[in-house]
Amino acid sequence: MGIEEKLPSGFLLTTVEQAAGWVRKSSLFPATFGLACCAIEMMTTGAGRYDLARFGMEVFRGSPRQADLMIVAGRVSQKMAPVLRQVYDQMPNPKWVISMGVCASSGGMFNNYAIVQGVDHVVPVDIYLPGCPPRPEMLLDAILKLHQKIREEKLGVNREQAAREAEEAALKA
Ligand code: SF4
Repeated sequence: MGIEEKLPSGFLLTTVEQAAGWVRKSSLFPATFGLACCAIEMMTTGAGRYDLARFGMEVFRGSPRQADLMIVAGRVSQKMAPVLRQVYDQMPNPKWVISMGVCASSGGMFNNYAIVQGVDHVVPVDIYLPGCPPRPEMLLDAILKLHQKIREEKLGVNREQAAREAEEAALKA
């Protein structure tokens, strides 16, 4: 007989890792960081109709030091790139990034010298969200997928270093 069958009903078993993942995904604080038209959809997602508060993340923080999620909503100009990186560096670990819209993910229709051709040249991206602009339902879906990713993350992993190692391994292969 397994330990679960011996315990009285209503008893919950978990690990520290799973509990931390659940707490982290249930209390994300996005940084206020709208860059272009996609930001309008991001703001709509936070308003009453789509009710982002249902997922424990109603409050967009004014300071990066109080935020652990960056939603890059819109195209990133070359001039904005260092600012974006500075905001990212000021966010405490662990932190996550959603690239919202085709412009943030690849430059989109702005294939020119003024626009960064993908924000993953500047910060590590966890979720790429397609669309121009993605609707609020799509952003909610991306956030739920990020929740799943956060729940499965191991504790104590340096995510940037892991991403670098994966990149180097891919280049060697
Ligand atoms: Fe604007 Fe479309 Fe680019 Fe979003 S993906 S920033 S809506 S042009």
